Amino acid sequence: MYSQVIAGTYFTSKDDQTVQVGENMLICIDEQGKIVRIIAHSEPEFQQVRQAAAEQHHLLELAGNERLLPGFVDVHIHAPQWAQAGLALDRSLNDWLNTYTFPLESRFADDQFALKVYASLVQTLLANGTTTALMFGTIYNSSNLILAQQAAKFGLRALIGKVAMDDPTQTPEYYRDESATAALQATQEFIEAMFNLQQQTQTTLLPVITPRFIPSCTNELLHGLGELAKRYDLPIQSHCSESDWEDQYVQDRFGKRDADVLDQFGLLTEQAVMAHGTQLTDEDLSLFRQRQTAVAHCPISNVYFGNAVFPTRKALQAGNQVGLGSDISGGFSPSLYRNMQQAVMSSQMLTDGVNSELATGQRGVPDSRISMKTAFYLATKGGAQALNLPVGAIEVGKQADFQVVKLAPALTTESTDDELERLLYQTESKDISWVMVGGKRVYQNQKGHK
Ligand SMILES: [Zn+2]
Repeated sequence: MYSQVIAGTYFTSKDDQTVQVGENMLICIDEQGKIVRIIAHSEPEFQQVRQAAAEQHHLLELAGNERLLPGFVDVHIHAPQWAQAGLALDRSLNDWLNTYTFPLESRFADDQFALKVYASLVQTLLANGTTTALMFGTIYNSSNLILAQQAAKFGLRALIGKVAMDDPTQTPEYYRDESATAALQATQEFIEAMFNLQQQTQTTLLPVITPRFIPSCTNELLHGLGELAKRYDLPIQSHCSESDWEDQYVQDRFGKRDADVLDQFGLLTEQAVMAHGTQLTDEDLSLFRQRQTAVAHCPISNVYFGNAVFPTRKALQAGNQVGLGSDISGGFSPSLYRNMQQAVMSSQMLTDGVNSELATGQRGVPDSRISMKTAFYLATKGGAQALNLPVGAIEVGKQADFQVVKLAPALTTESTDDELERLLYQTESKDISWVMVGGKRVYQNQKGHK
């Protein structure tokens, strides 16, 4: 009847304030890897379904100290930069790009190097509970397809973009598309190759239109990418108002805000995800809402390069779509647990402010704090909404993308809310027992528990 049944207790976000706890439930999954039914312990069929699944060896029973969570959705990753995660974070954005990042990305002309880095990245993401990833590749299609093949091989849901960057004033000669025409041609070839690969592998692989950011692209390229996104009805990823320098650069070049320029080129759509947004104004956020464009909030990266804290609470309250991104390697960690923790910490610092020479009450932006429940929403449902994918929640109709996490024994009596909060703060990859994507087990922790 069901191809698999998971028995155990789960946590899933209802909205950005509320988490639903399913205690001692049966989660029933069909052949296509979709959740088709959730049965509570009190329902009459509970025992019967459980017993039938056990007899057919389709029952996956969680241990008493294990909890089921939705797999995380990471909405901002630069896949090639995994090779330098944790390096050079003391540099300015401009210096970091030119001295470290562009030279590294140019090495992905070498397929063997790409294979080594991408196989490591994909397995690391899964081992950290991430089951869906929105990723920038490089300008080289050969290595971009290697990334897609590795995602398909190990079972990660992957949305991947060929990075487009052709402006000779802002990109080095050794690492740029030859021209706008060449970049558009290569993007189109990548889209077709991804559709073929998706057919062959029967996995969730989606091509994404990817202007690196406005400073790297000529008007002709931006215009052409907007057209391609429309013609193929594809997701878009880029950066918007990501630092003081970048925000000002766009205003100097166009006499307009970054958000308005992206919109003018057809790049702010309901399928678009724009990273960082630390300098977005209320008007920009309003335009994002009108277009249903999502923000990829990358709290660790923003500490280094954002020059400000993204006002997550304000954006969510206004109705903006927000997901969570690790921003490898502007962020050093592949774990969305680390990013959830930083999202909460940064929001507290935004509330209080940090300069003790200013009077209390004048230092920060009141009411900016978010809870861990909100951070959990960003990492799951918020990301799924940003990508328009049926993932990120343990609900009927969603894909069976899960992580099973071991909870350390409680030292005091705690409510389920306390339990979830402790779990989200304390979990590391070693505590993740196994991970499932679309009903398939894609990661099994071999190391056991501490
Ligand atoms: Zn980025």
